[in-house]
Amino acid sequence: MAEVCTVGAGFSGAVIARQLAEAGLAVAVCDTRDHVAGNCHTERDTASGVMLHRYGPHIFHTDNERVWSFLQDYTQFMPYTNRVKTTTQGHVYSLPVNLLTINQFFGTTLSPAEAREFIEARADLSIEDPQTFEEQALRFVGPELYEAFFKGYTQKQWGCEPAELPASILKRLPLRFNYDDNYFFHKYQGMPRDGYTALVEKLLDHPGIEVRLGTAVTRADVANYQHVFWSGPLDGYFDFRLGRLGYRTLDFREIRASGDYQGCAVMNYGDPEVPYTRISEHKHFSPWEEHANTVCFAEYSRACEPGDIPYYPIRLAGEQALLRDYVALARDESNISFVGRLGTYRYLDMDVTIAEALDAAERFLALRAAGAPVPAFFTEPA
Ligand SMILES: Cc1cc2nc3c(=O)[nH]c(=O)nc-3n(C[C@H](O)[C@H](O)[C@H](O)COP(=O)(O)OP(=O)(O)OC[C@H]3O[C@@H](n4cnc5c(N)ncnc54)[C@H](O)[C@@H]3O)c2cc1C
Repeated sequence: MAEVCTVGAGFSGAVIARQLAEAGLAVAVCDTRDHVAGNCHTERDTASGVMLHRYGPHIFHTDNERVWSFLQDYTQFMPYTNRVKTTTQGHVYSLPVNLLTINQFFGTTLSPAEAREFIEARADLSIEDPQTFEEQALRFVGPELYEAFFKGYTQKQWGCEPAELPASILKRLPLRFNYDDNYFFHKYQGMPRDGYTALVEKLLDHPGIEVRLGTAVTRADVANYQHVFWSGPLDGYFDFRLGRLGYRTLDFREIRASGDYQGCAVMNYGDPEVPYTRISEHKHFSPWEEHANTVCFAEYSRACEPGDIPYYPIRLAGEQALLRDYVALARDESNISFVGRLGTYRYLDMDVTIAEALDAAERFLALRAAGAPVPAFFTEPA
């Protein structure tokens, strides 16, 4: 009989389950879906042989030594560097906006120092303390780059005007004044050779772990265990009794072709008239494999309705208030901790998810050994 249950077989649930099983506990891992790995799920397409990322492309990248070394026991990471392109205003450019993008966009041959001066001359310095995404962009990149690379994409991604979004969404200076087009700055970057699902299956392959797929857990089930780690939606646990926390969801339109469809893994579309935000061609996520045919997905972002898969938490002022109310309710519950991207209503990269799961398991074991109460949250969501 399982002592602990993790709700969700994504990275949060699987890592916690593994660590507790290693410590000698019996753990049930439940997921409503018919597969493990949560939103990182990958599966091989039977027609083309391409490894597909079912819930959108996932690239592993981290600076966290503990997470990187932990994962080495469960997969072999293959070299992969994320290089994204964008189609906007009738041209293809390199992302993140870098010196090549700037020189091609303005038809110049600027050096790093010249480009910095050139962009500073275009920036709207009258905006002293940017409050919105739009002000932040105009303050740091000027109107031309903002219109081409940030405005349309952001409108499509978030379904609102950039003037309605907080400045914090855009990093301080989202430009590079060199030719580095590696999307991530992290020390480690790669793709699990056999996909994320094989990695998670290996994490869950332990005699102390029982995986129950197609199994929805509810608040009423919590009493069956000494402790539950809930990586499902926080509002869903309470049957949405205070309302729904806002998310963006994604629709994927499949495109099949022979050969190479777009020549890169990810092509963004910056123009507002193009209804999708990007097209990802999944065979390019496994550059060590060869496939004659190809499978791509055009990605459409929209408001998440009941029954949709929640992808990106919105976290504007209204959602923050509702989140605080749900957090207060959660703190009154017993024998349950809320973890992961849905349980804490935050966007979390995989490495952060895994780091937090390792930390939660470690702290749970220490508190349990001391007979001390276990908190509802190991990481503050608000
Ligand atoms: C489009 C997109 C692209 C991303 N790309 C990257 C990337 O390139 N690199 C990166 O590092 N990160 C990326 N991420 C983030 C990554 O997906 C998360 O870090 C990761 O999925 C978090 O794992 P989790 O276990 O917390 O949640 P999930 O993977 O969502 O797992 C939660 C699981 O709980 C299950 N569940 C929910 N409620 C119940 C219930 N009541 N009973 C039973 N089961 C339940 C769900 O079915 C789900 O399988 C991306 C995220 C998105 C949205």
